[in-house]
Amino acid sequence: MSERRFKGLTMKRWVKERFMSSRVKVLVAGAGGFIGGYMVGSLLKQGYRVRAVDVKPQWQWYQRFDEAENLTLDLQEKGDCIQAVNGCDWVYNFAANMGGMGFIERNKGLCMLSVLINTHLLMAARACGGVRFFYASSACVYAGNKQVTVDNPGLKEADAYPADPEDGYGWEKLFSERMCRHFREDFGLETRSCRFHNVYGPHGTFDGGREKAPAAICRKVIAAKLAGLQEIEIWGDGCQTRSFMFIDDCLHGVQTIMGSDIIESINLGSAEMVSINQLVDMVEDIAGIRLKRSYNLAAPKGVRGRSSDNTRIRQLLNWEPSIPLRTGMERTYAWIYDQMKSGTSKDAVVNRY
Ligand code: NAD
Repeated sequence: MSERRFKGLTMKRWVKERFMSSRVKVLVAGAGGFIGGYMVGSLLKQGYRVRAVDVKPQWQWYQRFDEAENLTLDLQEKGDCIQAVNGCDWVYNFAANMGGMGFIERNKGLCMLSVLINTHLLMAARACGGVRFFYASSACVYAGNKQVTVDNPGLKEADAYPADPEDGYGWEKLFSERMCRHFREDFGLETRSCRFHNVYGPHGTFDGGREKAPAAICRKVIAAKLAGLQEIEIWGDGCQTRSFMFIDDCLHGVQTIMGSDIIESINLGSAEMVSINQLVDMVEDIAGIRLKRSYNLAAPKGVRGRSSDNTRIRQLLNWEPSIPLRTGMERTYAWIYDQMKSGTSKDAVVNRY
């Protein structure tokens, strides 16, 4: 007789995994934000016990789950980090002061202050002992001189050195990656880290100044459609290139890397590179309209070309992010459209500093 199966696993295996995960307590730092909110939901679904922490008051969290232990703490403070980490086996650090180019080019000091969050969380993890620690780094660590043309062949992990990262935000990311490495080498803390390339999806920031290109373009196209306008503003000349990873790929990648023995920071991004103009074409297609484009060449636009070289992650995990941009953008557009149509658009989150 064939063995009974549940959720794709044999019943015995499912019960074992469920039992194991229910023993593990996980801290999600930055749980009120975009990626952290999804991570809390995903971990709860798998049976983990979750402590969700963010500096924002809980009514401002993008997603909040009553099954988690939800705490409002300022993780720039060491004492708050100890309170957050104490009793947890794993720590996912997604807490940072961040946003799209419009935010990080104008708030370099604020971005660099995120170093306090990761440093104090690492110190708390070391003090509590037995913790496995994940740090969310970024493609902004990559050297500027490797990203000067639109036909970027994809950034390899080694392209972070000699160091010339994005001023402010990128330097903090590179420093914090190294801090994780040295806590691992010197103090034996288990650390994992990856470099996200533009993560997007529903429940992300789409207005207020911290939004990134996919959400900003959806918002502009939807606003024009709802108001019957004919024109939208594009930052830069629209030829700059990027790749964008849908949130489901991000969650899968982060959890796989956390469970792996990959100790050096690794790319986690899509290799499907598009220009901003191509992204606008796609959103117009989804919206069923065509708009005139007014190019603002003075606006923040970041590097000229950036994509992810996925050779390493393919070699090590036999996997890479693969959800097509069109699929993810349809889902993102639909969510932002609903938010804007129903008038539930959120203001940007303003942190304490
Ligand atoms: P997000 O801004 O939506 O979430 C970050 C959360 O951290 C916010 O809710 C914020 O309130 C919280 N936070 C800030 N300061 C805090 C403090 N002192 N104490 C506690 N919480 C604090 O950002 P996200 O898109 O979810 O990104 C998560 C992580 O991934 C960040 O480290 C970010 O730099 C990194 N990252 C994201 C992307 C992306 O495309 N989303 C790309 C590269 C790297």
